Amino acid sequence: MVLALSLRYYLYFHVGEMDASAGEDGPDDGVCLEGVNADSLGQFDDKRMDDSEALIGGTRMFQRIKFFVLSIVSILIGMKVTLKNLFSPAVTLQYPREKQPMKENFRGMVDLVPEKCVICYMCIKICPVAALDLAHKQTVEADKKKLAITKFTFNGELCCFCGLCEEICPTDAIYLNKMYEVAAFTHEEINNIDLMDKEKYKQLENNQPK
Ligand code: SF4
Ligand code: SF4
Repeated sequence: MVLALSLRYYLYFHVGEMDASAGEDGPDDGVCLEGVNADSLGQFDDKRMDDSEALIGGTRMFQRIKFFVLSIVSILIGMKVTLKNLFSPAVTLQYPREKQPMKENFRGMVDLVPEKCVICYMCIKICPVAALDLAHKQTVEADKKKLAITKFTFNGELCCFCGLCEEICPTDAIYLNKMYEVAAFTHEEINNIDLMDKEKYKQLENNQPK
């Protein structure tokens, strides 16, 4: 009931405000409601006008509070993701000062433990891009024949990091390490890496950003 009365007085108040009499040359440029009889709308006595103004003031105050609360709620909903992440631990790293630890199954550069290699050539045969090159020689020590690697190189430009050489190796001699920052200034530095050299990736690591 109060709400209905409020709406009625609210409508009257605005209609009265917007009503403007037409001049001799036609209606004013301002807002004008033709056909509305302002006299018929202004039949309220002073007491009712006071009550209506109080109601209008209360309604307006209520609406302003409502809009304010809704605005705050709307902003909070919009900022939900921001607020959620504001107090969460950062997931970004200050690279290159901080490094991302690689997952267990990450495949980096091909590496070798020469002592474990039995020169079976299985990695050479399975490599789909011929990125590995192996050569050996036979030696005789104490009347025993032995095989020795004379060349085991890796072409980092050809390798597609499929991991097949690692999978097929019967002694786990060849594997893919966790390096992901290898950089070179010339092709020669990276397409003919000597896997027998323990320091093979040292220079390439030095080319990383500091
Ligand atoms: S990871 Fe794949 S492409 Fe690279 S050397 Fe091994 S078998 Fe060849
Ligand atoms: S598969 Fe393993 S053991 Fe065989 S040649 Fe390659 S690295 Fe050596």
